[in-house]
Amino acid sequence: MRNPNSLLIGGAWTAARDGGERRVVNPCDGSLLATVVEAGAPEVDEAVRAARTAFDEGAWSGAPAARRAGVLTATADTVQRHREELALLETLDTGKTLAESRTDVDDATAVLRYYAALATTDAGRTVETGRPDAVSRVLHEPVGVCALITPWNYPLLQICWKVAPALAAGNTVVAKPSELTPLTTIRLFELLQDRLAEAGAPDGTINLLLGPAAVGAPLTEHPMVDLVSFTGGLATGRAVMRAAAGTVKRLALELGGKNPNIVFADADPEAAVDFALTAAFLHSGQVCSAGSRLLLHRSLHEEFTAELARRADLIRLGSGLAKETESGPLISAEHRAKVEEHVARALAEGAVLRAGGGRPREEVLRKGYFLRPTVLDECHAGMAVVREEVFGPVLTVETFEEEAEALALANDTPYGLAGAVWTGDAGRAERVAARLRLGTVWINDYHPYVPQAEWGGYKQSGTGRELGPAGLREYQETKHVWRTLDPAPQRWFAG
Ligand code: NDP
Repeated sequence: MRNPNSLLIGGAWTAARDGGERRVVNPCDGSLLATVVEAGAPEVDEAVRAARTAFDEGAWSGAPAARRAGVLTATADTVQRHREELALLETLDTGKTLAESRTDVDDATAVLRYYAALATTDAGRTVETGRPDAVSRVLHEPVGVCALITPWNYPLLQICWKVAPALAAGNTVVAKPSELTPLTTIRLFELLQDRLAEAGAPDGTINLLLGPAAVGAPLTEHPMVDLVSFTGGLATGRAVMRAAAGTVKRLALELGGKNPNIVFADADPEAAVDFALTAAFLHSGQVCSAGSRLLLHRSLHEEFTAELARRADLIRLGSGLAKETESGPLISAEHRAKVEEHVARALAEGAVLRAGGGRPREEVLRKGYFLRPTVLDECHAGMAVVREEVFGPVLTVETFEEEAEALALANDTPYGLAGAVWTGDAGRAERVAARLRLGTVWINDYHPYVPQAEWGGYKQSGTGRELGPAGLREYQETKHVWRTLDPAPQRWFAG
């Protein structure tokens, strides 16, 4: 497969001027999936200028909300019509199973529909002025040009989390997906561009740049960009924040987590073990909200970890296209090497290996970037594997005696994205949920989310929120308009 025209700038699909290209490979076996062009500095500038012109022209930014909503609804319908194609592309590009990719396509559809609906109910509000001759309104307006930078673990879903509220609010966008997984974003932008054109939106309403960090970085600095929405690693997030400071851009950052999954002695043991596996090993642990730190009440420890390890060893690795596969590979050889270093260091620091720990032995998996689901026992907060985001199929186990100790362990991290508490005691569940410094808390569950509820992190997991009404506000400026109906001199100054 070869796609030479994959930058979208000012309404045209175009090749990069310096001819930069990149091979996109299947992480399942290293085979070539596509060759895509890469942008250089001139294309970054052109794309931002195209988005700026489209925004300032006003035909999109000032369009009735119903028209913007119509584009999102039509895109949602189109995405559903292309469900199998998009799911297949996502599986080839990321390695996740087809079932996961289909769920991602459905979730992407739901978020497009949610912001379509929200856009039309967002008429601002009137405010009491205390004066019969004055009217005061608070309005929401689009921020302007939005740079949307997405990572490789949920490429289609994450771009939809950003592009749906950005367009619902009337912004124009320049998107930059991860160089590792650009394929579904390219396809989505083809479909979305058609729907925008049908609705009469100006060229340049959406723009797509491909390329590595060297393409993302100038986007975050460009003086014509008003907002950066970034999802990725903490170190890159800090760099984005520094770059955005130059022109005080609006910022929304989602930077991952080190998420605790706390199991009390009175939890349903079968469900808690089952969800501990899902929490840690879904998409090979390459999930920002992965429950990578299991905090177990000491009385449960032996039986729980034995069952956990038994079931982890049974997880079937393989191609995401095969029906029997339960988990795919990691995204790249480099990323797997980083995860393996984490495991080796944890073992050197005293962790006890209960499951996995290495690459699978099957010959058929040798070319892919696979790693066995790994359970590390006897862990403690002093270990790097407990403190740093591993972003792989690695679960650490710590134990506690008292509720207060569980809370202290759970909150002892610079991150604050998500986590869970498992208990049969409703009072304890609410107490613990209230004291966890996390943007999302699940009680007796792990991983569910809905577009109606905000998603984002406390502490260094980021700033701002995606999804829900707050997810739309990220892409809006708030304006107060005061109107005096019958002006008369005030005579504040006597002369
Ligand atoms: P990055 O944070 O580096 O990448 C995320 C996105 O940012 C990609 O599109 C990337 O481009 C782009 N990017 C990289 N550097 C810059 C920059 N200076 N300015 C603007 N954009 C930039 O993630 P990595 O792939 O390096 O993963 C590192 C770690 O981040 C992982 O091990 C994991 O811990 C964490 N992570 C967290 C995610 C989350 O959902 N919160 C998702 C992915 C990773 P490109 O990929 O083309 O280089």
